[in-house]
Amino acid sequence: MGRLICLSNRIPTGANPSGGLVVAVGDALEQAGGIWIGTSGEVCETPSDELREIEGGPFRRLCFDLTEEEQQNYYAGYANSVLWPLLHGRTDLVDIHQEYLATYKKVNRRLARMLAPHLEPDDRIWVHDFHLLALAHELRVLGVGNRIGFFLHTPFPEPLSMHVLPNGREVCQWLSGFDLIGLQAERDVRACLASMVEIGEAIDLGSGYLHLGQRQCRVAAFPIAIDAREFMDLAEEQFQALPAGIVKDRRRLMIGVDRLDYSKGVPQRFRAFGEFLSRHEEWHRHVSLLQISPPTREGVQAYDAIREETEHLSGRINGTFADIQWAPIRFINRAVPREVLAGLYRAAHVGLVTPLMDGMNLVAKEFIAAQNPEDPGVLILSQFAGAAEQMTAALIVNPHDTEQMASTILTALAMSHSERRERYEALLEVLLTQDVHWWSKNFLDALG
Ligand code: ADP
Repeated sequence: MGRLICLSNRIPTGANPSGGLVVAVGDALEQAGGIWIGTSGEVCETPSDELREIEGGPFRRLCFDLTEEEQQNYYAGYANSVLWPLLHGRTDLVDIHQEYLATYKKVNRRLARMLAPHLEPDDRIWVHDFHLLALAHELRVLGVGNRIGFFLHTPFPEPLSMHVLPNGREVCQWLSGFDLIGLQAERDVRACLASMVEIGEAIDLGSGYLHLGQRQCRVAAFPIAIDAREFMDLAEEQFQALPAGIVKDRRRLMIGVDRLDYSKGVPQRFRAFGEFLSRHEEWHRHVSLLQISPPTREGVQAYDAIREETEHLSGRINGTFADIQWAPIRFINRAVPREVLAGLYRAAHVGLVTPLMDGMNLVAKEFIAAQNPEDPGVLILSQFAGAAEQMTAALIVNPHDTEQMASTILTALAMSHSERRERYEALLEVLLTQDVHWWSKNFLDALG
């Protein structure tokens, strides 16, 4: 069997440990042996046209630098200001500029040219996420015939949203350069097939197969996962290390953990908690929400806005309800080490995972894996997280419906021990059978 070559926008450097991709793909590479290729995170005026080896780590890593212009137009521009909002149903935030697209293509082409000389005929190539949609297409132009798989970590948009892209048809052609297009959920498979047919004029051959131009590709769902066993052990161990005050407070803690991204629904969550508090005075001083949200993609305008909105809302809710001994919301704008998070999840009675739109959402899976099996907490999960297709035993909510979310918070806080255990056991079963090893094996088997 040939090597596995993984590509993503960033290679893991130790400086960026958060993000679902790093956890899941690092695992697959360690298992299969291979190389991870991506940008270094450094900006340089005249980047080399060769990939650079990074020493150390559990697998080989090769990287390249971006120019300042590429960082602005490819990364902050086309990837984060066009594709990300489009993929998350925020077409109102899509910011179209010619130079964004031109630079996006240039970076994908440059990477294809740097990669091609490293390839051996039986290497399998696995491309990750929306930064590299054009990579297979560029490799095919160079005559690369290897199997190339793609995994999109975000949702796939419906055709109506895809029409927002002036180059939607071209994007579909790029995608047809892959042999396998892996998506998070069945809803994404349906949307992708519909978009490829309507916008790309692909022919639907049935069973997820598409024909476009000279190529045939397959679209299928591979819900990404975590190493549930490892996380269970980590949480059990780390729970012991938490400060006594947090452990003693167990019954009263609700937790939210998300990058401060507009897709995560943090303002809606705060409003629902505010609504809950205004309806239920008996819960005042008996419950608090710990929201851990490190800033992300700073400098992109929509992210500055979400930061202001959430700071304003948490301030208002605390101002309205707090007394000298209690603040309902603790809002932390910092990344927290993974092991501390694991302990905190276990200390929490309720996990609030309420994105407006999310490819999968690994926090939902981490929260469940971290629970004490004898006395588990309750997961409140948005119907718009890809995870909702698998995690049906969670309390499923519509994050736009403030009143429903407020009453679900009460249901979660008041849930009987037997119902908590029943739901937890059903959820854990999914996590243990469909874990990260299952995910990468399934994808790579399908890639062939
Ligand atoms: P996304 O990839 O969009 O950020 P996911 O929920 O799929 O969303 O993955 C998020 C990952 O990042 C999880 O592994 C989670 O533990 C980690 N993470 C999220 N917020 C924080 C934080 N405040 N500190 C540390 N890690 C975080």
